[in-house]
Amino acid sequence: MTDLYYDDDADLSVLSGKTVAIIGYGSQGHAHALSLRDSGVDVVVGLKESSASRAKAQEQGLKVATVAEAAEAADVVMMLVPDQHQADVYTTDVAPNLRPGNAVFFSHGFNIRFDYIQPAADVDVAMVAPKGPGHVVRREFEAGRGVPALVAVEQNPSGNAKEIALAYAKGIGATRAGVIETTFTEEAETDLFGEQAVLCGGASHLVQYGFEVLTEAGYKPEIAYFEVLHELKLIVDLMVEGGLTKQRWSISDTAEFGDYVGGPQVITPDVKENMKSVLADVQSGAFAKRFMDDQRSGAKEFQQLREKNQSHPIESTGRELRKLFSWIPTDDDYTEGTAAR
Ligand code: NDP
Ligand code: MG
Ligand code: MG
Repeated sequence: MTDLYYDDDADLSVLSGKTVAIIGYGSQGHAHALSLRDSGVDVVVGLKESSASRAKAQEQGLKVATVAEAAEAADVVMMLVPDQHQADVYTTDVAPNLRPGNAVFFSHGFNIRFDYIQPAADVDVAMVAPKGPGHVVRREFEAGRGVPALVAVEQNPSGNAKEIALAYAKGIGATRAGVIETTFTEEAETDLFGEQAVLCGGASHLVQYGFEVLTEAGYKPEIAYFEVLHELKLIVDLMVEGGLTKQRWSISDTAEFGDYVGGPQVITPDVKENMKSVLADVQSGAFAKRFMDDQRSGAKEFQQLREKNQSHPIESTGRELRKLFSWIPTDDDYTEGTAAR
């Protein structure tokens, strides 16, 4: 069993006297900046002068500077702008302001694993990657709990990179839940595979097909929505609590037998082969290249795919139904009907 690190294994005083720059104030950025600040760490948020997030960070009482000023002032620089913009921000504003012995941190291994960012040899390079969305990271911290995280060290000229990463993880509440050590390569490849094959790509497309099959067979879209989307959360909660066994324990015998019989009819061995080809594209860098090339030429493919998927009929059915669900929590800044964050 892999070692897990908890609060007792991490020492926040490693960060005392140091300044942490959080570059970006979005999903992860706001959670890290506020929680580190609440843990007594000296934090400065780095944002462009024109950034829409500036006002939010200032309202929360955080120090805000330009990216270059924040990197200059900091001992530890955490890169929390979107992955596709990190290399430009790093090259222009971060790298020129790093001193030997400083540390550059990431929450995803993408830019290091696929060589879009190549830090100088005299800075520490480490990762603290919470395994949950930023809004949940912050919510759990405020509730006295935490979201588990991965830590990794890529470069360690100071000899303290792991201690600093564990202290940072403690500052955002992650060591309350448990921290696992990994490498940039393992995190980047497994994260991309997991989100593509199962969590995001796999699950969304399974839901879309399920909805299409039921509605094309003449069933009401609202009923189809409940059966293939809404209840998914209830099933997944059981999986998280006690694995597939608890989920199958809780459902009816009819549903459990259907799981064993219908599941393999849908998810055939071909699907496993398809998953292997997704993994191969991740490992070869082909996926990273397709994403970055598209981003660097105006994100045309990305926008097309987003529009196509947002216009799937399950989305309009869900939008209408959810208006009736006053009890669905919306304590983040997501606005129903837009994809803005
Ligand atoms: P977001 O998309 O939420 O980041 C948005 C922030 O970045 C905003 O403050 C935005 O400022 C700023 N920003 C965007 N572009 C630039 C730019 N070119 N220059 C300077 N600032 C910019 O990012 P996430 O929090 O989703 O992701 C950050 C990192 O965390 C990524 O590496 C991601 O893989 C990782 N991660 C994310 C998770 C999540 O929950 N989303 C989960 C685990 C890891 P503005 O106001 O100007 O738009
Ligand atoms: Mg990811
Ligand atoms: Mg049912």
